[in-house]
Amino acid sequence: MAAVDLTILLLIIIGAVALVALGVGALGYRSQLRKGRVRPEIEPTEEPEEPEEPAPAPARAADEDEDGSDTLVAPPPTAEPETPPVTEEPVVEEPVVEEPEPTESRLIRLRRRLAGQKNALSRGLLKLISTDQIDEDTWEDFEDTLLTADLGIGPTTELVEALRTKLRVEGVAGSDQARETLRAELLTLVDPSLDRSLGTDASAEHPAVVMVVGVNGTGKTTSVGKLARVLVSEDKDVVLGAADTFRAAAAEQLSTWGERVGVPTVRGDEGSDPASVAYDAVQAGVDGESDVVVVDTAGRLHTKTGLMDELGKVKRVIEKLAPVTEVLLVIDATTGQNGLTQARIFSEAVDVTGIVLTKLDGSAKGGIVVQVQRELGVPVKLVGLGEGADDLAPFDPEGFVDALLTD
Ligand code: GDP
Repeated sequence: MAAVDLTILLLIIIGAVALVALGVGALGYRSQLRKGRVRPEIEPTEEPEEPEEPAPAPARAADEDEDGSDTLVAPPPTAEPETPPVTEEPVVEEPVVEEPEPTESRLIRLRRRLAGQKNALSRGLLKLISTDQIDEDTWEDFEDTLLTADLGIGPTTELVEALRTKLRVEGVAGSDQARETLRAELLTLVDPSLDRSLGTDASAEHPAVVMVVGVNGTGKTTSVGKLARVLVSEDKDVVLGAADTFRAAAAEQLSTWGERVGVPTVRGDEGSDPASVAYDAVQAGVDGESDVVVVDTAGRLHTKTGLMDELGKVKRVIEKLAPVTEVLLVIDATTGQNGLTQARIFSEAVDVTGIVLTKLDGSAKGGIVVQVQRELGVPVKLVGLGEGADDLAPFDPEGFVDALLTD
């Protein structure tokens, strides 16, 4: 009996020891798990879903209600009250309309600029009249200077012959007299008797219509913009037509010129029919009872026939509404003989009534004034003397010749 009791007691003790050992083992495993040293056997089979953005937790009272439920309360006031977002008022910029320089003062300014620019032509002229004894070499140098200045062979020969005769017959009594003789001869060549007035007066029924033609790059669009300013300074009501639809930037460029002096620009899409843009511009001028419509045209010299067809069509279409009162051909003074060749082609395509000679400020080739007038039988009416907005002026023969002969 005692042996049985002893065995039972032994079993109980063994059982208790085993239980204690198991418990200690389990505790050790848990602590290892917490420290991350042991990985649980179960690996997630799928990527865990991206947790949804937690909704901002409502502010809760620091202490809970007596019944244990949480109560939502207003957040405690922060030190800086939240300022409402400032909605900025869009800044509407008032277009600043410029006041172009009146013709009188721009003539004085530009004449001074021309006189201040001593080029080969004026230097040659001054050298001749300041020489006491004009010998054959001096005459030859003088002739060369005139030819280099694009006066052309005909006018150069005429001028030299006339001067030689006068100075031989009358004798050179001094440089003042020589200057007067030269001035008179140059003026004869430039021909002050030509009518240089612009056809910009509206009739009782129609606005005046000015078509501006010329090769791209000569300063055509710029000249249209500058002409608009001349007209605005004369209190004329102007509409611009951007019929150079082949050059993407041309219409934009012209609109900007117009905006600066408060003049509207009628334009079409790039590549649209130039004649229809010109028509719309003149229609706008008729409807608005404007004084002048100035139409810029494309100047691609792709083929002579193409050019003639295009310019002819533009003119015909305009004249369904109003007569074209002036066709201005723009020539770049720096291009010399090349410019003259282009001028001939244009004058065959359309009846040119006046020349705009641009870039005379950067050119020693002032003689082109005489040559182009002779060749085309058309007067130079306007000259461009710089890139400034008001650097276009009516051509004034006496001012031009005086500027050449100013020391
Ligand atoms: P378009 O292609 O014939 O319409 O030529 P633009 O009107 O675009 O002018 C071509 C360039 O010539 C521009 O840079 C103008 O500023 C410049 N230009 C136009 N007229 C004159 C001028 O009288 N003097 C000078 N120095 N530059 C000019």
